[in-house]
Amino acid sequence: MAGIRARTGADVQWRRVVLNAGAQATLSLLYRGTLESCNYDCGYCPFAKRKDSRARLAKDAAEVARFVAWAGQQERHLRIQFTPWGEALVRRHYREAVQALAAMPHVQQVSVQTNLAAPLSWLEHVDLAKVMLWCTYHPGQTSQQRFIERCARLDKMGIRFSVGVVAMREHFSAIRELRSALPPGQYLWLNAYDRRGPGYYTADDLAWLDAIDPWFVYNRRPAPSRGSPCAAGQEVIAVDGDGEVQRCHFIPQRLGNLYRDSLDSMVGERPCSRLKCDCFIGYAHRRDLPFGRDFGTGTLARIPLRFQVLEA
Ligand code: SF4
Ligand code: SF4
Repeated sequence: MAGIRARTGADVQWRRVVLNAGAQATLSLLYRGTLESCNYDCGYCPFAKRKDSRARLAKDAAEVARFVAWAGQQERHLRIQFTPWGEALVRRHYREAVQALAAMPHVQQVSVQTNLAAPLSWLEHVDLAKVMLWCTYHPGQTSQQRFIERCARLDKMGIRFSVGVVAMREHFSAIRELRSALPPGQYLWLNAYDRRGPGYYTADDLAWLDAIDPWFVYNRRPAPSRGSPCAAGQEVIAVDGDGEVQRCHFIPQRLGNLYRDSLDSMVGERPCSRLKCDCFIGYAHRRDLPFGRDFGTGTLARIPLRFQVLEA
C-alpha cells in the first residue's frame, strides 16, 4: 500500500527496545578505565605527564570497546560520562566510543571530562542533542587565547559544554581574564584548591569567587554527607574498565560486575556512608542539594539548566 512501509523484523525489535527503555528510569554510568596518561603537566595533579605503555593503552581500548558493546545491548535509557584519571579525548578510541554511544537510540547523553587539547573536528559528526563536554582550563598548560578559541569553536559547532578552573590563588588573574573573555551566558565553574590550608581564601576572595560561580560554596565547604540521600547507587553508578561497579567513585564498596550481574541486583537506594563528598561528580547527585533542580539533564557535564539552550 502506498505510504505504508512494510514492518520488518528489525523495526519490531527496535520498537520493543524503545518501549522497554521508556518503562525504566534512566541510568547514568560514570566510566573510568585503565587510562592514566595525560598530555598536560599540571602541578596539582598526580597524573601530570604520566605515560601509559602501549600494552596499557591497548587494554584501555579493549575495555572501552567492551563497555560500548555492553551499552549497545541494553534496553533502558542510559546517560554516560567518561571521568578518566588522565586525558581521554587525545585517544582515538574514546572519540570513537563517544560517536558510537551517541548514535544509539537509547543513549540519551554522552559527556566527557577533558582539557580540550584534543582535535575537535570529530565532533562535527555527533548528535548535538546528546554529546556534552566538561572542559577544564589549566593555566600554564595552554594559552588562554587558544583555550577561548576552542570554546568558540565548540559554540559554533553547537556542542554544549561547561568551562571551569581550579581556583588556586595563582590562577586568580586567569580566572578574571577568562570570565571577561567568555560570553556572559557561559557558566564558569570553580573547584576549590584541594591542598588549601585554613585561611587560604580571604573573605573578599570568597565573595568574588562565589559571585563567579554561585555553586562554588558546595565545593569549597562541602556539606557533611554521611546519612544523606544520594542518587549514586540508584540512578547513577560508577564503572571501571573490568566492569566492576561501585555506587560512586568515592565509596569503594563493590556492588557487582556490569558484565556478569544484573543491573537490578546492583542498584538500590541507600544513604551516603562517607563523611564528606567534595567533588562535583559526587555531591551533584545528592538528593538534598539543589543540583538536580539547577542542573537537570546537564548535571553530568556540569551545565546548569539555564545555560542549556540548544539552537534549532
Ligand atoms: S589536564 Fe587534568 S589529568 Fe592532565 S595533568 Fe592536568 S589536571 Fe591532571
Ligand atoms: S554523596 Fe558522594 S560519596 Fe556519598 S554516595 Fe553520593 S556521590 Fe558517593
